[in-house]
Amino acid sequence: MKPAREEMFRQVERSLKDDIRPTLGDELKISAFRHMMASLVLTLGRGVGSTFYRAGFDIGVYKAEKHGLKGVDEALDYAVEVFEKTKLGLLNVEEVSEEEVVLTMKESVTADGYDVGEKLCYFQAGFIAGLLQGATGQRWQVKERACVAEGNEECVFVGRVWHDENTWKGGC
Ligand SMILES: [Zn+2]
Repeated sequence: MKPAREEMFRQVERSLKDDIRPTLGDELKISAFRHMMASLVLTLGRGVGSTFYRAGFDIGVYKAEKHGLKGVDEALDYAVEVFEKTKLGLLNVEEVSEEEVVLTMKESVTADGYDVGEKLCYFQAGFIAGLLQGATGQRWQVKERACVAEGNEECVFVGRVWHDENTWKGGC
């Protein structure tokens, strides 16, 4: 990880003291978050999804290394816990192997309530991929196969080890 990126994550962590914002605390309304996200989408335009994925991926790798996560199970346990704690969404592990994982998510901070016919949970997908990669030392890619914002009941993520042949075995 680039030193500048790591230093920025450290700055974020240092800023999050127990007594942060004595009156307002450490929470933020989804309305504020979504307006900021909408502005980013308008400003960054096409390809913004991969930027959100990358943002999640980097923080995932950083957290996996910081907490010394080892293996797929530890990465996913941490993902479930941190998604609930930070209110990114309610994650559930559906299938796990050393090479492939399937997770579902309800109450997505980025997608719940939207009906826009496209996927909106790039940050979470990247975060899961970063955790898996940081915890296993293998290259992982996570795709959102279905999203609440497309009219589905829950978001579905499929993660796979990324092999050199650069293809997804069996498609998605
Ligand atoms: Zn979604």
